[in-house]
Amino acid sequence: MAYDRNNIFARILRGEIPCQKVYEDAHVLAFNDIRPQAPVHVLVIPKGEYVSFDDFAAQAPAAEQAAFVAAVGKVARQLGVAENGYRILANHEKDAGQEVPHFHVHIFGGKRLGRMLPRE
Ligand code: AMP
Repeated sequence: MAYDRNNIFARILRGEIPCQKVYEDAHVLAFNDIRPQAPVHVLVIPKGEYVSFDDFAAQAPAAEQAAFVAAVGKVARQLGVAENGYRILANHEKDAGQEVPHFHVHIFGGKRLGRMLPRE
């Protein structure tokens, strides 16, 4: 899938749409999810143009991948959920229900998160 430069996270990165920023560095932006599903629900996105995890894993230079992983850990610690625990999740494509076609990792925390997947 080609990258859509008008997707909502691209617009957030360009400052065209506001976000509740929790972290930013040269490679990464993190902000609160607009429809939180846990007391802590933050999205971490790379600044580069990657459609999904699959695209990021296949195409991003190793330094960008390393910076992203380090930033996810740093954000979780900054949010105060590293001690009690948190869950990270990335939806790729239709079967996972990916809504926004810019790679993002969800960080959920702040409560017992229950089953990894809902029962059918
Ligand atoms: P996914 O289904 O993994 O693609 O998740 C997309 C997430 O983006 C959802 O949890 C939405 O609530 C969230 N979202 C959509 N628009 C915005 C926005 N403008 N600011 C923050 N989060 C958003």
